[in-house]
Amino acid sequence: MPVYKAPVEDVMFLLNDVFPIERYNNLPGFADATTDTVEAILAEGAKLCEEVFAPLNLSGDQEGCTRNPDGTVTTPKGFRQAYEAYAAGGWMGLAAPEEFGGQGLPSVLNTIMQEFVSSSNLALGMYPGLTQGAIAALIEHGTEEQKRTYLPKMIEGTWTGTMNLTEPHCGTDLGMLKTKAVPNGDGSYAISGTKIFISAGDHDMAENIVHLVLARIEGAPAGTKGISLFVVPKVLVNEDGSLGERNGVSCGSLEHKMGIHGNATCVMNYDGAKGWLVGQENRGLNAMFVMMNEARLAVGVQGLAQSEVAYQNAVAYAKDRLQGRSLTGAKFPDKPADPIIVHPDVRRTLMSIKAFNEAGRALIVWTGLNSDIAHRSSDDAQRQTAEDYMGLMTPVVKGVLTDLGFDNAVKAQQMFGGHGYIEEWGMSQFVRDARITQIYEGANGIQAMDLVGRKLGKDGGRAVMTFFNEVGAFCQENAGDESLQSYIAPLQQGLGHLQQATMWFMQNAMAKPDNAGAGATDYMHLFGTVVMGYMWAKMAKAAQGRKAEGNGVADRMDAKLLTGRFYMERMMPETATRLARITTGADTTMALPMEAF
Ligand SMILES: Cc1cc2nc3c(=O)[nH]c(=O)nc-3n(C[C@H](O)[C@H](O)[C@H](O)COP(=O)(O)OP(=O)(O)OC[C@H]3O[C@@H](n4cnc5c(N)ncnc54)[C@H](O)[C@@H]3O)c2cc1C
Repeated sequence: MPVYKAPVEDVMFLLNDVFPIERYNNLPGFADATTDTVEAILAEGAKLCEEVFAPLNLSGDQEGCTRNPDGTVTTPKGFRQAYEAYAAGGWMGLAAPEEFGGQGLPSVLNTIMQEFVSSSNLALGMYPGLTQGAIAALIEHGTEEQKRTYLPKMIEGTWTGTMNLTEPHCGTDLGMLKTKAVPNGDGSYAISGTKIFISAGDHDMAENIVHLVLARIEGAPAGTKGISLFVVPKVLVNEDGSLGERNGVSCGSLEHKMGIHGNATCVMNYDGAKGWLVGQENRGLNAMFVMMNEARLAVGVQGLAQSEVAYQNAVAYAKDRLQGRSLTGAKFPDKPADPIIVHPDVRRTLMSIKAFNEAGRALIVWTGLNSDIAHRSSDDAQRQTAEDYMGLMTPVVKGVLTDLGFDNAVKAQQMFGGHGYIEEWGMSQFVRDARITQIYEGANGIQAMDLVGRKLGKDGGRAVMTFFNEVGAFCQENAGDESLQSYIAPLQQGLGHLQQATMWFMQNAMAKPDNAGAGATDYMHLFGTVVMGYMWAKMAKAAQGRKAEGNGVADRMDAKLLTGRFYMERMMPETATRLARITTGADTTMALPMEAF
């Protein structure tokens, strides 16, 4: 049975020492989040994930979901009870507004909990995860009546949510979507069409499922400008809030897929289902973007989460598995062989995953705090910077954390040799589950294009310039600190490469957009490497500070500092390769005629 321990201590280091959470006490909800409270909340969340969610991960993968003859879906044994424990613990509404029954706590705590949940059981965690995205979209774009009808039930967890974009002929290119909405004349619409790949589309965990559906109102313009968003409950809701008749929406079949078997991926048939407009007519993509952005960040967290749990299991195995002797002489001469963790190549692998996990976690905490500032600050300038960062970092968090999350799941599997390929160890599941994170919520190539094509130039490049200035200022401020030189110098070099790549796009991609397209993925990873380097430099500074206290944490801080140095020496140099690739442009990529492939 795979192991999992939620990294609460590491998170507390981030919240206490790297991005001190008390600094944000002026924001609503933060005053209640004292260190002790946060630690108690996270310890409770860790317990739920370690003791309830994680033990169901392997069995959920083996059993999968079942569609019953009447079209209802049954989730794997234990999932319903685990979900009920999650809902009863108030986790769904941890950061949701109090007026709808939430706890109003900082959303960064929710982000952290999403990591624990996704590490312990990704397939199970997707049911509440999608619900939280739907809650966010309704809060921002729903009418008062829609908010009153749906939010309290969703926040208490008795109803869940889904997002319905994809159709058989359109995934990335939503402008082609065909699902139609015909006005019923009473303010509602009749929704008809087929949506595919709908996560948590049907299941047995909740009394009702609130589908957010993109559809085209009869007569609306073609393309993305004619798409509207609708709320379509599985069971219609009476005026007094009680449940009424079944709506005309059902699960036609379940997809058979590579991983996340415990999550029901449904073909959803809408046969004149009653739906109500959310937000403005023909502005559905705009409204759905709230949910998509939430979901993109959450998917980035899922990538990190799979890397973390795979790493923990690889470490346990590497300490236990005896094969060969250390290059520098036997380390355990009384045993028939040394544990494989003595071998430099095994260590290289484990260190690279560890260095990514800790920086990735810092990145999601930093982004989570920016999300809180963007949503809660009353200071316009502060809010604008945070919003800029959210826009800039969303594709980076989604694309980089999931690409590397998958790579790391494979690396961790490699530590098991042939045993990693055998299902009972659970490593194969981490690889299979991690793979989807690179695909859904906009495939990663699309994230890269979003970063290069939309986010870099937005508002005259304000967001990226603010980021460059922040990292540059940090490097300058700490240039004189001898103890930080092994972090600052590589960061400065990486930042230089990122600035050169950005400049190269500005000079070479306007007239020739293929140059941007061909370099986009490298740019996204170059960006990710630098921002994680920045996270490491900030962690190193905080660790030096804690170490100086000499209060018994020195070993932990030494480990932090060493891992950060590994990142700077072994991972940061990738920025040079990325820059070199980007600046070759698109010529060799695009020259081959189609028939030559
Ligand atoms: C298990 C699972 C769960 C899912 N859950 C949901 C859900 O809950 N709700 C929902 O609505 N959808 C869901 N999806 C759908 C998912 O979001 C889409 O599969 C994804 O967005 C890609 O769309 P597509 O599969 O049609 O691929 P396509 O759009 O056909 O893309 C194919 C490839 O071409 C590339 N490509 C396409 N256009 C461009 C371009 N302009 N520039 C560069 N590259 C391009 C893409 O990057 C991709 O690699 C789910 C999918 C799966 C498999």
